[in-house]
Amino acid sequence: MACFLQDIGENHVSEKVMHELSIAQNIIEIVEERIPAHKRSRITAIVLRLGEFSGVVAETLVFSFGVIAPQKGMSGASLEIENVPLTGECGTCGKTSLLTYGVFECPVCRSRDVVIRTGQELQVVSISMIDAGDESGGIAAVNSPEQIQETL
Ligand SMILES: [Zn+2]
Repeated sequence: MACFLQDIGENHVSEKVMHELSIAQNIIEIVEERIPAHKRSRITAIVLRLGEFSGVVAETLVFSFGVIAPQKGMSGASLEIENVPLTGECGTCGKTSLLTYGVFECPVCRSRDVVIRTGQELQVVSISMIDAGDESGGIAAVNSPEQIQETL
């Protein structure tokens, strides 16, 4: 009998959803490390900095988060995506430019000696909460944005 995963075909749809699902779980774990259980129902938004070249589909990630968050006591939380464009610094002319997805070439001098500067981010940058009058204010800023380790 053929392998079921291979039978799915070229698009790897189910693997792709698994990828976003595991990232959504990762985001929730980061939040759980910072916000005690009794305060999690007050979370309104989690801001994720997402690079254009991170390989993550934002819509799928937001959907996956929406499925998991209520199970973790975060039914009021939404995942907000802060998109980061793909930029690179040219080793030949020294300019930093926006890159076209998939084309790693300096748009100024056409050199291919380009180092990616932004666009690979996958970071939780802030957690917003309903202010219940305590010391936390309204926003729990994540002081050192946490890069999510990709597990797949
Ligand atoms: Zn250049």
